[in-house]
This record gives sequence, structure tokens and C-alpha cells, in this order.
Amino acid sequence: MNSSSSLWSQALETISQRVNPHVLETYFEPIRCLEESPEKLRLALPNKFLRDWVAHSYQAFIQDIVEESSGQQTEIEFTVDVVGQRVPRAEVSTLRAPRRKEAALRREADGAALGTAPAAGPSRTHRHLNEKYTFANFVCGDSNQFANAACKAVADHPGLNYNPLFLFGGTGLGKTHLLHAIGLEIKRRHPDWNVIPLSAETFTNEVIQSIRENRMDSLRKSYREQCDVLLMDDIQFLAGKDRTQEEFFHTFNSLHETGRQIVVTSDKYPNEIPDLEERLASRFQWGLIADIQPPELETRVAILEKKASLDGINLPEDVSMFLATHVKKNVRELEGALVRVEAFASITGQEISVELARQALKDRLAPEGRPPDADRIIKTVAGFFNLKVSDLCSDRRHKAVSQPRQIAMYLVRDLTSLSFPDIGRRFGGKDHSTVISACKKVKRLLETDASIRQSIEYIVRDLTP
Ligand code: ADP
Ligand code: MG
Repeated sequence: MNSSSSLWSQALETISQRVNPHVLETYFEPIRCLEESPEKLRLALPNKFLRDWVAHSYQAFIQDIVEESSGQQTEIEFTVDVVGQRVPRAEVSTLRAPRRKEAALRREADGAALGTAPAAGPSRTHRHLNEKYTFANFVCGDSNQFANAACKAVADHPGLNYNPLFLFGGTGLGKTHLLHAIGLEIKRRHPDWNVIPLSAETFTNEVIQSIRENRMDSLRKSYREQCDVLLMDDIQFLAGKDRTQEEFFHTFNSLHETGRQIVVTSDKYPNEIPDLEERLASRFQWGLIADIQPPELETRVAILEKKASLDGINLPEDVSMFLATHVKKNVRELEGALVRVEAFASITGQEISVELARQALKDRLAPEGRPPDADRIIKTVAGFFNLKVSDLCSDRRHKAVSQPRQIAMYLVRDLTSLSFPDIGRRFGGKDHSTVISACKKVKRLLETDASIRQSIEYIVRDLTP
């Protein structure tokens, strides 16, 4: 073991090379090492839920990596330590204030009764829960298991342990579905609670309208007094909307202080939402952050089967396998493919079969060609920017070369399964940290710089025709 760096930080370094950045941020970065020796590591997580989750899902993985460094058997113990790393010092006392928990407990105990008052207040449109988005209709697999469990825990004990709950994941992966499932379950148990599902866009419109009509006070009051559970969808929409963020911040505080549950969804991790005030981003990290990843093949098959049985579609096994193999990006597309195949079958009066599915989706299926490898990606990026492959692998720092190099690194990471150190080697022996920061930088640029985004989209189309 290298004595200049601790066992745990060495392990974390290795972990960071083996898991994707969101998994790292969600499950590993909150870990604090309380005690370490080659014989034993005591690792603390900020709450019981995360502790159980990490112990259950990653114990063997962590153990292997730690033992690689320690060179001997190392016992690992997981504990809970509320003052996790993510909570900024100044906010710790607020987090621990008993007031909030008591309020929530009290409300749980007496079956609870805030917000029975209807009418008045925030507009009631766009406020219904989609009855189909239940937990029972949600198919659980590795990719969404943690998020699903976290949502169920929140529905069981709203306002108590994981507040706020922050769900994040790419589009069409089930965020809205889970958000509504929480709302439906809470309503089932507490029919008189006021559960408010709304999109960040609707909230923004309410704020704009209230400012215009000079009744901001009544909007604020209505949330404070009439909301037991706030389910805010697509919070990334608040990016750059300073005034709405400010209102949301105050709404958030007054609900949180009185033990009301808040659940927020986003397509990005809090810190990655551009132009989101730091104080909001930090509040989102007070509770629990759960990510949803794209579903793996088995889950895609199970989702199709569930959907088919809900809609009374007779879907042969080979067809669901065919669809699940070809439609990978997200669940919404998968559902769209099923609907299209079903429509095609009923219009043409044929049975659903693989051949029919192929015909119905012929414009949409990804070609079965091989995915691009690192060499092809580097060559394509070089060609796009009129550079030579050797430029991209050189140490030249001029922006005209360094930016294409960063883009190439990002694309290799995104489109292949190479690790950061492997990628560094492909680029003339760069350090893995150079690759990590290149990937981060390009991710940021993708959000802020339309011309870079277009270039990258163009290159990707070229690589995956
Ligand atoms: P997001 O809000 O993340 O963009 P949605 O929640 O709108 O995604 O999901 C898109 C569609 O896919 C919805 O019809 C939803 O019911 C369905 N869906 C997503 N994930 C699952 C799942 N795990 N099981 C069943 N249906 C799912
Ligand atoms: Mg959604």
C-alpha cells in the first residue's frame, strides 16, 4: 500500500475508473471513511437507506478493490453518519432540526390534515395524477431499482426520511411515472392530503402570472397552506429563470420546514443543471438523490410484456425480444414501437410476428452494424476538424487542437466501453485525469454551446449511420 495516500482514497480512485460518473456521485462520493487500517475499514453513509443500498449492492465490489490495495483480507463495516459530506457545514444544524421530523411524525400519527381546503390558490389545472402510473405498472430492473425503492420508501413515510427526494435520469426512463406513483400511493393512504403534481414549467407560468397580476403573496400562501406533498417534474426547466428559482426556493423552504414531502425530477444531476442557483442545488442534496439508468435488455423485455398485457396485445416472445434488442434508447421509444407494431398488425389484418415488426419499424430500426471503435472515432473527429490523427494524440495545447481532442475523448468514452486510463493511452499516453476533465468539459459545452452540440451530433450521425 502506498503510504502517502490512504487505503480508502486509493480505493475510491480505482472505483472512479470503474463505475460511471453518476453512480460515483450518487453512491460513492457520499461515503466517509471513519476508521481505517489494513484489517478494517469503517465507512459511513449519510442515511440508512443509502447505507443498506450500498452494502447490499456494492459490498463485494468495494471489498475486492480495497483488498487489491491492502494486499490482505480487509473487513468492511458500513454505518450511518447523518453529517454526510454533501451537507455543507452551515446547513447541518438545519438538517438536524428536530422540528421538521416531529411535524412529519405528528402528521403521520393523526392521519393528517393539512390542505383539505380546496379552491383558491394555485391554479388547479395540470394537477391530476395519471392513474396508469402506479408502482404496480412500473417494471423494476437493475437500472431503476434504487429509484423505485426510494420512491416506495417516500410513499410509505412521506416527509420523514428522504426529503427532498431528487430523481434524475434521461428522458423517457420513467421519472414522471415514478413521481406520479408516489402521489397515487400517498393519496390512496391519505385521501384528504393535498398532493400537488406539477411541472416546473407550470410553476414558472404561475409565477409569471402572479407577478403580472400582483398577487405573488397569495401564490406563496397557497403553497404554504395547501400543499402536503409537492411533486415537481422536470426541474431543469428552471435553468436560468432566476425569479422562479427564487420563488421555488422559498416554497421549498416553507414546505420542508414543516415536514412536507418534496419530490423533484430532473434530467440532470443538481450540480449539472446550468444556471441553477447554488443554494437550490445544495438543498436538493439534503435528502436522497436517486438515478435511473437506461434499462438493460431483460428489463426492456419485461416492460414490453407488461405493457402488452395491460393493453391486451398478444405479443409473441420472439417479437418482444426483437423489439427489445433493437429499441434501446428509452422506454418511451420502446412503447412507441409496440404501439406502431400493434397498429400495423390491425390495419393490415395480420398476426404480430418478427417479420411484421421489422416491416412496421423499418425506418426506425438502428442498423445492425458494429458499434464504432476508438480508432474510428478518433479518425472521424480528426477528419471533421481537418486535423490529423497524430494532432489529436499530440500534446499541442492550442484550442484548435485541444478542443477537438476533448471531443474525441468524450465520444470514445460515450460510445465505447473503454475506461478513462485506456482512453488516455489511445491519445498518446495521457493521464486518466486529463480524460476525465475533458469529458466533463465537453458535457458542459453540450449544454451551453449550440455549435459544439451540432458538431457533435453531426459526428455521431456519421459514426452510427
Ligand atoms: P420521463 O419522465 O423520465 O421522461 P416517463 O415517466 O414519461 O419518462 O416514461 C415514459 C413512458 O415509459 C411512460 O409511458 C412510462 O409509463 C413508461 N415507463 C418508463 N419506465 C417504465 C418502467 N420501468 N416500467 C413500465 N413503464 C415504464
Ligand atoms: Mg417526464
